[in-house]
Amino acid sequence: MEVLLRVTQQVLGFIQTVRVTDIIDIIIIAYLVYRLLQLARHSNAGQVMKGIALLFVLLWAAGVFNLHVLGYILNAALELGFLALIVVFQPEIRHFLEQMGTRGLPTVFGRGKPHPDEMEAAINELVEAYTSMSKDKIGALTVFERNSILNDFVKSGTALDAEVSSELLKNIFWPKAPLHDGAVIIRDGRIIGAGCVLPLSSNTSISRDLGTRHRAGIGVTEHTDAVAAICSEETGSISVVSGGRLRRHLAPETLRRVLRNELLLNQQEDNQGGSSHWSGLLRLLNSVSVRTMFRPRKEESDHVE
Ligand code: ATP
Ligand code: MG
Repeated sequence: MEVLLRVTQQVLGFIQTVRVTDIIDIIIIAYLVYRLLQLARHSNAGQVMKGIALLFVLLWAAGVFNLHVLGYILNAALELGFLALIVVFQPEIRHFLEQMGTRGLPTVFGRGKPHPDEMEAAINELVEAYTSMSKDKIGALTVFERNSILNDFVKSGTALDAEVSSELLKNIFWPKAPLHDGAVIIRDGRIIGAGCVLPLSSNTSISRDLGTRHRAGIGVTEHTDAVAAICSEETGSISVVSGGRLRRHLAPETLRRVLRNELLLNQQEDNQGGSSHWSGLLRLLNSVSVRTMFRPRKEESDHVE
């Protein structure tokens, strides 16, 4: 009983030392940690964060157990790592600052995201074009940018800034058109590049009947969080890839549904969850995957038709 009384007194004494600012401090930190964990769960940035967290845990362990050499090396690694992050994220930091300069903070922090109607229109135009190209067996590869910035790939092709229309897509992929080779890249509901070269997947379990167009579509989604839509020149079959997972033989309505799920519902979730303010940071962190990550995944195919 006496022990209980002493513990209660100690707890009360401790509570009395807590100031309102401490509570605000804790709430803000808890919120930041919660959002970072959410971010880590939903994106490739999680792998970077896990690496950084591991580094801090090791540094802490080195301090506790007096492992001087390990502590020295980890400290040096952290200092160099900070510089390395700036180098790795250089295009994103530039993009972030450029956006801030030209469009202001609201755009950078997410409120400037494309209106769902614009994205819906882009999806509808793409589905119309793919339906027609599938019938005519015209090869096509279109990539929708999400949080990972695809500037590096746009640079490998021809930069454009055009509204997505079924006619334009069919024109670009027309076999005799100069830009038909390579991928079209769509950002915020607009075409920003065509004839772009994407990284090929080196996943050895991809079926042998899939050539470089499909491997490029899979490759870009392994390195980034982009979504790729492919129309096969050989079979006219339509596929969608996200996270390295290929869904093949999609009927037009399934293509529309899958793209809406990937591009519209995720965006609405983002907005509803209030994470739009994090999209600038997410873009910055997530895009590290373009250069540093490679997560081969097993090819999957669902015959929806
Ligand atoms: P399809 O079923 O249409 O024949 P596939 O998966 O068999 O597709 P290929 O026949 O090798 O692929 O397709 C070649 C075309 O894929 C090229 O003409 C080019 O347009 C596109 N392609 C190939 N490599 C890349 C790449 N790295 N990035 C973007 N597009 C590419
Ligand atoms: Mg082929």
